[in-house]
This record gives sequence, C-alpha cells and structure tokens, in this order.
Amino acid sequence: MPELIISISGMRGIIGDNLHPEIAARYGAAFGTFLKESGKNAPVCIGRDSRPSGSMLASALASGLMSIGLNVLDLGIVTTPTVGIMVRRLGCAGGVVITASHNPIEYNGIKLLLDNGIAPAKPLAEQIRSKYLEGKSKPVSSIDCGKITLVEDPDSIHIDKVLSIVDVDSIAACGFKVVLDSVNGAGGRPGVHLLQSLGCQITQVNTEPTGIFAHTPEPTAENLKDLCTQVTQAQAGIGFAQDPDADRLAIVDEAGRYIGEEYTLALAAKLVYMEKTGSAAANLSTSRMIDDIASKRGGRVIRTPVGEANVAQAMIENQCIIGGEGNGGVIDLRIGPVRDSLVAMAMVLQLMAKTGKPVGVLADEIGGYDMHKSKFPADMQQACRIIEKAKETFTNAKVDESDGCRFDLPDGWIHLRTSNTEPVMRSIIETRNPELTKQYISAVEQIRNQIG
Ligand code: MG
Repeated sequence: MPELIISISGMRGIIGDNLHPEIAARYGAAFGTFLKESGKNAPVCIGRDSRPSGSMLASALASGLMSIGLNVLDLGIVTTPTVGIMVRRLGCAGGVVITASHNPIEYNGIKLLLDNGIAPAKPLAEQIRSKYLEGKSKPVSSIDCGKITLVEDPDSIHIDKVLSIVDVDSIAACGFKVVLDSVNGAGGRPGVHLLQSLGCQITQVNTEPTGIFAHTPEPTAENLKDLCTQVTQAQAGIGFAQDPDADRLAIVDEAGRYIGEEYTLALAAKLVYMEKTGSAAANLSTSRMIDDIASKRGGRVIRTPVGEANVAQAMIENQCIIGGEGNGGVIDLRIGPVRDSLVAMAMVLQLMAKTGKPVGVLADEIGGYDMHKSKFPADMQQACRIIEKAKETFTNAKVDESDGCRFDLPDGWIHLRTSNTEPVMRSIIETRNPELTKQYISAVEQIRNQIG
C-alpha cells in the first residue's frame, strides 16, 4: 500500500486504500484544535471538487471540526478558488478544500486554508501535521459541539467578483465562440455561468460535475487532443480546459493548437500590463515570458519557491498586480489569493476583445521560448550533490537557491529542484533556441551521471 502523503500543502491519498473517513475526521479535529489554539473560533468553510468520494471525506472532515466545537459552512461542490474567496467573505477561521486536483479519480485530498484564504506557511503546516500525527486534538462535550450549515450559491459570489474586473460589454460585443472542457470537475457549472455572462457562444464538453473524469484530468497537451479537434470542428475562437478543482487553465487556440499552460499566466499578465504597471510574482519554474511583458512596462517579477502559497504571500507583501504559476495558475488579488481558472478565462477573453487579435496570434507575439521539463530519481543527498556540481558547471549563471537552485544564464535558465512528495529531482530548462536547450539537457544529464 502506498504511503499517505501529508505535506505542507495538505494530505493526498487513494480512497479505500490509504485515505479513509477516519483519517479525514482526525485531520479535521487536528486543524480545528490548531485554529482554536490560535484564538480563532469562527466557522470553517468546506468545499469539494466533484469526485464521488468528496461527500464522504467532507462529511468526515466536518465531523472532526465539529468535535472541537467549531461550526462548519458547507459550500458543496465548488472550485478551489471559490473556497479561498468564501473564507474571507464569510469571515471564517479557515477553509478546507477536498480535492486531489489533477490526480486521477482514485485519489482525493485535503487542502487547508487559513483565514486569509492562503495555505498555512511551513511552520504552521508542521504544527497541524504534528497535531494530527500525535492525536493531540481537544474534543468538546456534547453541548458545545459545532453545527453544519449549507451555504447557498457560492458560485455567484465568485463569478460576480470576476466580472467586476473585466469590461463585460466589450467582451460580449465580440460574441466569442468558446469550447469549455471541465473534465466533469468542479469548474463546469461556474465556468459555463461565467462564459454566458460574458456573452460567449459555448460548446460544453464534460461540464457536468459528476467526478467521472472523461479523460486523464491534468490539462496537458497529450490529455487534450479531443479538445483541439472540438475547437476546430466548432470553428471556435478558443478552447479552455480546467483541471478538476478549476485552479488551473490550459488554452487551445483558434487553429486547434494546444498552446501550453505556460501561456495562460503570460496572457493574463499581458492584459494587466496593458492597463497598469507594477510588480508581478511567479515561481522559479515559470517561463520568462512574464519577465519580458513586465519589463516592457517598467515592472519587475518577484520569483518565489514553487507552491501557490509562496506566490500568494509574495504578491501580498509586494502588492503585485498579477501573479501565478506556469502550470496554468493565475492569481489576481482583487479576486483572491488562489490560482483561479475563471479569472484566467475572463482575462484572456478581455485581452482578445481589447486587441482584436485571435489568441494564437497573441500567444505567438509573447512566445518564442523552448521549454523542457523532466524528472529523474534522486534522494536528498544526491540532489544536493547534483546542485553543487551544477554550480561548478554553470559558473556564469546568476543563482537563486530559495527552492533547489535556479541558474539564470544570459540565453536561458535551468531550475533544478527536489519534489515535496517523491524522491525525484525536477529539471526545467528554457531557452530561445532548441539546440541550446538540448545542450543544457545533456549538461544536466552528464552531471546526473557523474553523481550516479
Ligand atoms: Mg488543481
């Protein structure tokens, strides 16, 4: 049986194998105890993606929280960013999302949010984790147990916020033809609602929140071949693909070409920097496209360790006008500190409306990079030695060691980092020249082989 993963971003496991309702109840109790000990007694809201196991885990998690004396607000099936928004809107002590994001249906997970809508930073996450592992929860007596209340229509609050940051009339005037593939996750219902509000003609694909994923759910090129065909068949201007909890968005252009998740944040940044200037934030593995866009407008990009909470925290500290991650995750603090596919869709449509250009043309204007992602087995010791060796190799690079090591070279960059969840090292390389990318790939391979 594989080990249940309890990382700083929460818990993820396989239902009926290593993730059971008892575990969720205990985790809920540990989170509740942590919140109460931090002086937070307000209710906790719980949302879930559409997986069939979601209701079971959410109920168990709610039981754990109520056993500590906290009330629970049930958001039902919602996107992950909706939970981030509702935590703050409802003045909650914290939030919980029941989701395993892009993992297959067998998986589910529990993601915790603090009262600011952001996942706890590492030291706080460690406190919650040790409370769970040591069973140090503090149940209340009968009269003090929490209650559960259903929240009506959280989607509308989310959608209204997204609509408030774009020019609805100018988008609607374009009458965009859009194909939306929500992989039968949580994003279908609000996605359709948003696109209808923006006057789009929608071809719906897998927009029922059944949790029976119509294809492998990660929104990568190999999993979206059908969407590419559907965009062409529908003669649509754009295709959108959400992951099951709808925090990531991938885009297919008007020619049925998968343009890649890296472009989602870059296109959103392009729009924001047309309207204003300021700082942006992105993780160290994200394409340089956002730096190019920001620098043209006198802005700068703050690079953070990988992980949504790191980006969101940097955005708040630096009052960033846009931020996110290269996996299709766009964050706009006007909406919430969580990656949000609804924000991303609205922004890309706004960019198309504002420029009058098809999305494929917009992507080509900001692109031209060649990115290569790979992973290979390496334990912590090997990873450290690989990084040391790489430092000796790439002596002309500017080095950032806040998450593994990123080497910024004049003609590209290489990011080597260990995974939080498995003994592997990830290598991300980006240049403007495929031949150079190949050279860097083989340089990393050589280092790896030397370490053995
Ligand atoms: Mg996700």
